[in-house]
Amino acid sequence: MPIQTTNPATNKIVKSFDEMTDKEVESAIEKSHATFKEWKTTDYSTRSKVLTKAASIMRKRKDELASLITLEMGKIFSQAQSEIDLSANILDYYAENGEAFLADEKLSPDSGEAFIRSSPIGVLFGVMPWNFPFYQVARFAAPNIMVGNTILLKHASIVPQCAIAIEEIFIEAGAPEGLYTNLMISGKRSTALVSDTRIKGVSLTGSEAAGASIASAAGKNLKRSVLELGGSDAFIVLEDADIDKAVEMAIVGRMNNNGQSCVASKRFIAVEPIADEFLEKFTAKIAALKVGDPMDPKTQVGPLSSEEALQNLLDQVQRFEKAGATIVTGGKRAFDTGAYMQPTLLSNLKRGEAVFYEELFGPVASFYKVKNEQEAIDLANDSPFGLGGSIYTQDIKHAIKVADQIDSGMVFINQPTSSQPDLPFGGTKRSGYGRELSELGISEFVNKKLIRVT
Ligand code: NAP
Repeated sequence: MPIQTTNPATNKIVKSFDEMTDKEVESAIEKSHATFKEWKTTDYSTRSKVLTKAASIMRKRKDELASLITLEMGKIFSQAQSEIDLSANILDYYAENGEAFLADEKLSPDSGEAFIRSSPIGVLFGVMPWNFPFYQVARFAAPNIMVGNTILLKHASIVPQCAIAIEEIFIEAGAPEGLYTNLMISGKRSTALVSDTRIKGVSLTGSEAAGASIASAAGKNLKRSVLELGGSDAFIVLEDADIDKAVEMAIVGRMNNNGQSCVASKRFIAVEPIADEFLEKFTAKIAALKVGDPMDPKTQVGPLSSEEALQNLLDQVQRFEKAGATIVTGGKRAFDTGAYMQPTLLSNLKRGEAVFYEELFGPVASFYKVKNEQEAIDLANDSPFGLGGSIYTQDIKHAIKVADQIDSGMVFINQPTSSQPDLPFGGTKRSGYGRELSELGISEFVNKKLIRVT
């Protein structure tokens, strides 16, 4: 894939970039390795200062960085501004809490003393997607910079200007050369780097195919890995739900980020007594959404990230239809120019069809009417993915019982899955493994070293 900025609102190429040569990649790895030897000896306050400064630069440059996001992957500008705020908050969160999370843990053996010390492990390689160009990087880089690891970051090829901006921010924040390095290489060249002995761990957020490629290389080379992959989150509406509120949440859950979020609500499941009312109201809201220029404050759904993503989604909608689904609303590209998809609702697809198990990555919802709660739970769990999910009901105690039965890494009640620095994020099944954010997220690439004193 060429490394270039193409504005998905116009499909025009804005700027192209050269890939790094093998020699340049080699020297970046060597520099990162050399910097690790020094960075691991720094104290937490030195590390936290870099993160705090980087957060403040992000906030100062918020509008400029947000417009880069919108330009390169089509996110609605106000959502891009929120992404910068969230990314800065993640940096601050680890700057403030990292030292406490990594403090020595005293043990109580039957004789003598023992404790666990958290030590860094070395150079880490991150492979990140375009859909949240700053946030995804923040949640991997911030905790690991605090740990004392160093970062080589291969960003998605369609967001090169965001990738460069992040590296510049860390340098301006006082990061020594080699602490955070942007690797301008294509996905194809990424997996080979995992076998480099100087790289001690790898984290990938992206598709199952890319995840499998990176994880198999990590396994072969006996290295730690974290995978944050796709999802097909269920949105379960129970009989006693506040339907209007649930419909409002369904729009947010499905359409945020123009529908391109791993934890978007993707399969909408309603129990029989309220299913028709929910479907009618949800359809009306989807059909009324304003699609258009992501810089226009009135826009509710912007373009997909690329023409290729749009073509893939259109093809998927056709396959849903062929498999027996009904297109309730939408289903086509929205305009001749730009990667715009009509907000779409599909229904009547039977479980068991191959497309049922696919992730719909765009403003396309699928709807299922089920007899009762047990059927809703069974349908929700009938997915290769297990990232998030949400349940709508007025009975919170009962909702927690239902949440217990959902096979996923995160379940939200009366709101779609969301993310904040102090709550763990991650999945199970084919959605990946490991956790990011919160205290859990800082422990993935740490040597929990036992020190025993007799
Ligand atoms: P993708 O194609 O897998 O790209 C993600 C990253 O992997 C990019 O940097 C890409 O580089 C690289 N890559 C692609 N093929 C590779 C390979 N064979 N070996 C190593 N690296 C490779 O994913 P995407 O389509 O951009 O992103 C959408 C997917 O990510 C969705 O499934 C979504 O659900 C998932 N996602 C998950 C989370 C989560 O937290 N669980 C968050 C966001 C997105 P190039 O750009 O150069 O190809």
